[in-house]
Amino acid sequence: MRREKDNRPLDERFWSRVDIEEDSDCLVWIGLRSPRGYGIITRNRGEIRAHRFAWEFAYGPIPHGMLVCHRCDNPPCVKAEHLFLGTNLENVRDMMEKGRDWYSVDPSRALKGEEVASSTLTAGEVRQMAEFRKAGIGMRELARIYGVNHGTISRICAGKSWSHVVVAPIECQGLIEARRMWELHATGLSHREISIELGRDKSYVWRVLAGKRWPEAQPVR
Ligand SMILES: [Zn+2]
Repeated sequence: MRREKDNRPLDERFWSRVDIEEDSDCLVWIGLRSPRGYGIITRNRGEIRAHRFAWEFAYGPIPHGMLVCHRCDNPPCVKAEHLFLGTNLENVRDMMEKGRDWYSVDPSRALKGEEVASSTLTAGEVRQMAEFRKAGIGMRELARIYGVNHGTISRICAGKSWSHVVVAPIECQGLIEARRMWELHATGLSHREISIELGRDKSYVWRVLAGKRWPEAQPVR
């Protein structure tokens, strides 16, 4: 059986298939669902998960490699306030089991433009931040997600604050970080700017970009 083609714009098609769920605070997808209950919507002839579209609709592009997770544990839910970013499912599950702190992360903060003092970060957020750094997410991006300024993130990553939570300074996976340096370098950032962005010594940035450290990160020309 062929489904009739729906030519309406994506956001219109999307919201026409969203409904309020009785007895819950969720907005649920009432269109096509995956076997595990996630909403599916077609985009550019491909299929995307409805909750991922909902996150992008509210907050902008999903950072590369990130998952969009449900804090309400309701797969068809597309309510932006119920969604948050995670690095991978195992990590997220693990953190959820370890404590409720994980739930306190609210990416919408930054988008509401609220000024959030560094002291409002929770231990769970700081631990999560460390995971994001390991996954190669830049400090500028973290500052945006958590709605705190760059200096706060940089101090945490350098082990100058919250060191009781993140015991050692947060070590990036060297190769991922080195690749990121090359990416930033290609966008025209100076060695100094890259060192600030990644919270690394200028001399370390210089060694990487000279091919003396992590030469395998060097882009093929
Ligand atoms: Zn929900």
